[in-house]
Amino acid sequence: MVGQYGRQKELKFKDERKELIKSLKFQDISDRVLSAMERVPRHLFVPETMRHRAYVDSPLSIGKNQTISAPHMVAIMCDALDLCEGLKILEIGAGSGYHAAVISELIGSGGRVYAIERIEELAKFAAANLKGSGYDNVDVIVADGTLGLPEYAPYDRISVTCAAPDVPPPLIDQLKVGGKMAIPIGKSTQYLHIIKKTGKNGEVDRERKMGVVFVPLVGKYGF
Ligand code: SAH
Repeated sequence: MVGQYGRQKELKFKDERKELIKSLKFQDISDRVLSAMERVPRHLFVPETMRHRAYVDSPLSIGKNQTISAPHMVAIMCDALDLCEGLKILEIGAGSGYHAAVISELIGSGGRVYAIERIEELAKFAAANLKGSGYDNVDVIVADGTLGLPEYAPYDRISVTCAAPDVPPPLIDQLKVGGKMAIPIGKSTQYLHIIKKTGKNGEVDRERKMGVVFVPLVGKYGF
């Protein structure tokens, strides 16, 4: 039961979310991505003790030394990937499930997100948050995401939400020709890269975007 107090709190979160989205408008984010983000209740993807900060544009701790990315970073990555209806997406680093929820909003019920997480407790956290918020086209899988997820390949888009030493080769193999990947690359200095697969033998175009700060990708082709 939500009750009067709970309802007031929900309205407060909704107002805070509106303000956050308004502030992101100044960062050159598309309206489509912004309205998707306005539909995702970020406060339900952070630990309860962090809820009061859910609509501040900053990363937050989700335990296990990991973080949920800042909203502007989720927005920039989603925008860069042109996430249209019906796409099949691979996310590496499910964390809280929030970024996957925003992707789910953008690809609609005809699309599917496979979100890999290496830490089992976080995978459970992400799956519960997604289910609790009504996202049923996202599967959370516990695995080493640097190996991709060959079972459902190829993917239209791949979104890596932790920083890699370089692009893991299996991820290029599992991307469709014409598909795109967003991936932070670097150790102490990191840059977001957009990789476009241009040929079936693994040819790619690489574009280096802005400097970013992500937790490390850990695994066979990670740190
Ligand atoms: N997208 C998340 C943010 C996750 S932070 C969100 O919206 O909340 C990065 C996550 O990547 C962490 O949870 C970390 O455990 C995970 N990670 C790191 N290396 C990984 C790997 N090789 N495979 C899968 N997940 C990995």
